[in-house]
Amino acid sequence: MTRLLLIGAPGAGKGTQAVRLAETFGIPAVSTGDIFRYNVKNETELGKLAKSFMDRGEYVPDSVTNDLVRSRLAEADAAAGFLLDGYPRTAEQVVELDGMLEAAGTQLDAVVLLTADTDEVVRRLLNRAVEQGRADDTEDVIRRRLEVYEEQTAPLINVYASRNLVVTIDGLGEVAEVTGRITAALAARGISA
Ligand code: AMP
Repeated sequence: MTRLLLIGAPGAGKGTQAVRLAETFGIPAVSTGDIFRYNVKNETELGKLAKSFMDRGEYVPDSVTNDLVRSRLAEADAAAGFLLDGYPRTAEQVVELDGMLEAAGTQLDAVVLLTADTDEVVRRLLNRAVEQGRADDTEDVIRRRLEVYEEQTAPLINVYASRNLVVTIDGLGEVAEVTGRITAALAARGISA
């Protein structure tokens, strides 16, 4: 029954770590970015709407994102725990998630903050642009995504820190090494797979 959030700047390695942690803990990784990309690829109504924001590096509106997460967390596999990757990203999303958890009579166990310096993050994202061809990995859009993260998402770290939930992890290094740091830090808080 582990409920985790993964927070960090674009390019900090959230997606990669989310997959590994979900496997370790036997819980689903719920990535709003992945869900939006899946919908964009399949040209659904949600995808068309999301794309117009994603391509510019802006956030998809809270109402849309909150509904998406609410229905995803209501699925059976999330009852025994989940790892949210890339949600919440705004103050309003925090309030919504609090409501969802309260309604379910549950709470978060920890918020994993992955850190990486800006130069490294930009380098990784430009690299990913070449490897994966993501439409939002161009230099201008990357810059905007980092700005939006600083403005809207970085302040959430304090919100969760005041609840004593934040575990800060250096996101630089080999993938397995970073996963090891996260699992060790969680174990030190009594959270283990
Ligand atoms: P990510 O893969 O997590 O970097 O997400 C890619 C893009 O999807 C973001 O730049 C946003 O446009 C959108 N997105 C993902 N998660 C959220 C969220 N929680 N709130 C709003 N927009 C989101």
